[in-house]
Amino acid sequence: DSVFAHVVKAPEDPILGVTIAYNKDPSPVKLNLGVGAYRTEEGKPLVLNVVRRAEQLLINDRQAKLSVLVSRVKEYLPIVGLAEFNKLSAKLMFGEDSPAIRKNRVTTVQCLSGTGSLRVGGEFLARHYHQKTIYIPQPTWGNHPKVFTLAGLSVKTYRYYDPATRGLNFKGLLEDLDSAPSGAIVLLHACAHNPTGVDPTPEQWEKIRQLMRSRKLMPFFDSAYQGFASGSLDVDAQAVRMFVADGGECLVAQSYAKNMGLYGERVGALSIVCNAADVASRVESQLKLVIRPMYSNPPIHGASIVATILRDKNMFNEWTVELKAMADRIITMRQKLFDALRARGTPGDWSHIIKQIGMFTFTGLNKEQVAFMTKEYHIYMTSDGRISMAGLSSKTVPHLADAIHAAVT
Ligand code: PLP
Repeated sequence: DSVFAHVVKAPEDPILGVTIAYNKDPSPVKLNLGVGAYRTEEGKPLVLNVVRRAEQLLINDRQAKLSVLVSRVKEYLPIVGLAEFNKLSAKLMFGEDSPAIRKNRVTTVQCLSGTGSLRVGGEFLARHYHQKTIYIPQPTWGNHPKVFTLAGLSVKTYRYYDPATRGLNFKGLLEDLDSAPSGAIVLLHACAHNPTGVDPTPEQWEKIRQLMRSRKLMPFFDSAYQGFASGSLDVDAQAVRMFVADGGECLVAQSYAKNMGLYGERVGALSIVCNAADVASRVESQLKLVIRPMYSNPPIHGASIVATILRDKNMFNEWTVELKAMADRIITMRQKLFDALRARGTPGDWSHIIKQIGMFTFTGLNKEQVAFMTKEYHIYMTSDGRISMAGLSSKTVPHLADAIHAAVT
């Protein structure tokens, strides 16, 4: 008898489980709107041209003086990853002329995409920060509570989404942050809040900043969609930069999964902005002690691709054009779905489809309606009614609109 015989079967991950169910469905009209990965109009995954070019350079270029070419020799990276990648990632997030970077107040370490950056940041806070409670928005990305609990923090929620308006519950958010214990950590989505697609306005961000600074709350930004929400890297970094501009401290987890389409390369970065250079340097020394026993050092290939693109003006520009094209296609899908529901006279106000931003629409469809759409129309999505707009195309919009129409009438 196996010594593991008592192990019970665990449930599938609620997001990745959608794809598993989709893969099993033989229907030719099936549609996967579950997982947050970009697809082309033809429904295919996309490798950016600029990424292909960077990979060619990494393979072919004989000028081994470029530090990024370590990818070719497959050596270990340092514990904190590729130095040039870290420097360029911080600039991308905080801005070319960021005083925090200039004063060496920022430490940036390469981590395993957004998730790994959140986990390393969480474990660092659990070890070295006086407050062990992190407030996450209600709702939020399903992995947040698990990542932070396992990192050793205690997770609480703050009000964020108002189902009645399908918008931000700004009053509830301010009340909850105001009554959080002094010093508590607050997880903020830098842009394109997942799953709701609802972001605070710049004015609301400013109010949040003032309240958090006066209550000494520690901002921990999750930036998984920089450039993907609005099509502009700078616009999507605005909230983070507001908090850095006031001279205060914060953490930022960055992912290149969506904005460079490097999902499987697991490339991201954790930055900790400190109020002085000597603090930042000591913080980095402790981050190494978090990382070393966890995975020793990060993978080399994805970081080499990113550094190759970010360091070269031409390639950087080419990237921004391709990134904007992805963002624009998603925005077009919003309009098409909205128009299709209008054309069908589907009951209800669907304007949130065009108001929400980023990869997802939080449709407002309930669990039963989602189950109906999966059963009758072979459309797969998470049971909270979140659909990935990136999984949609001009060809599949009518099918989705028919399904939504049938589900609500
Ligand atoms: N944070 C949010 C809000 C996300 O939506 C995602 C991906 O779906 C991530 C973090 C992490 O993604 P990754 O670890 O692939 O960078």
